[in-house]
Amino acid sequence: MTALYQVEDLRVDMQLPGGLIPFGKPPRLNILEGISFELNPGETFGLVGESGSGKTTLARAMLGLVPATGTLRFRGAALTEAGLRRGTAMMFQDPVASLSPRMQVGAAIIEPYAIHRIPKAERASAADLLARVGLPPALAARYPHELSGGQARRVCAARALALNPALVIADEPTAGLDVSIQGDILNLMADLKRDRGLAFLVITHNLSVLRHTADRIAVLYLGRLVETGPAAEVFARPLHPYTASLIASEPDPDPRRRRADLAIRGEIPGLLRRPSGCVFHTRCPLAVARCRSEAPILREIAPGRSLRCHLAGQDTTERTPT
Ligand code: SF4
Repeated sequence: MTALYQVEDLRVDMQLPGGLIPFGKPPRLNILEGISFELNPGETFGLVGESGSGKTTLARAMLGLVPATGTLRFRGAALTEAGLRRGTAMMFQDPVASLSPRMQVGAAIIEPYAIHRIPKAERASAADLLARVGLPPALAARYPHELSGGQARRVCAARALALNPALVIADEPTAGLDVSIQGDILNLMADLKRDRGLAFLVITHNLSVLRHTADRIAVLYLGRLVETGPAAEVFARPLHPYTASLIASEPDPDPRRRRADLAIRGEIPGLLRRPSGCVFHTRCPLAVARCRSEAPILREIAPGRSLRCHLAGQDTTERTPT
């Protein structure tokens, strides 16, 4: 099967604005490095990590919105701007902010047709696009500030569907919504995947979103992928200490299942203070001396399962924390 979207050895660097550094030339910061993965048609791929891990930058690089090096392929061919824009769409984290406050919903969701000069015969109506996301046609006359959180999310999805994309990148699709509405949005994504064969890249810090939606997941920490694999396997047997920490930190109403010993500790370091060696060593309960000086590589430990750690996932006598 040809991958829908391939990311190979992606790297993103950014120049810090001058005002942030009092003396001298502001440094170039490395945001992402060595990012490789594939998205298959019709699958949901979850990208998880804390705020500051580089998730949103990765999505923006995949959409061609920030400069990046490495290889990006869509349906096996090098990305062109036109192909990328027609084949992928974004559901934004803040849907109201992504819509013009002065544009009615109906006009907003068909706006991509004018932007991309789509012939009239190939355009769907606003009512049809609203129906695809379970909203009534009357909503077309409203303005963004008149929408509830759940409606705004659906309108954002309707606009994303206008160009018939094969891949939708959903950035924190349930952030800020009541729990009951969160379920509605996840069900909508599952329906679109089943009925229209859409693939989703779901970007979130919320593991429970991925438990319900993802076929495979990738875990990102300070701009490095640290674990990838089938979602069910990773949730059942997380191998990287960071993945295990994230899972142990999930809210669990049953106190007997809480693993305080594994729960994530401290804050993610800023990019200006990226740790040497393994980027996770400052928070890792298993860290040994080698972790401070030597960066582990991402190695495949089983078909479709990869891990970036000197110790986890292999028999070792080196596990005495220092
Ligand atoms: Fe922890 Fe060392 Fe593995 Fe990094 S390489 S995750 S510090 S044990």
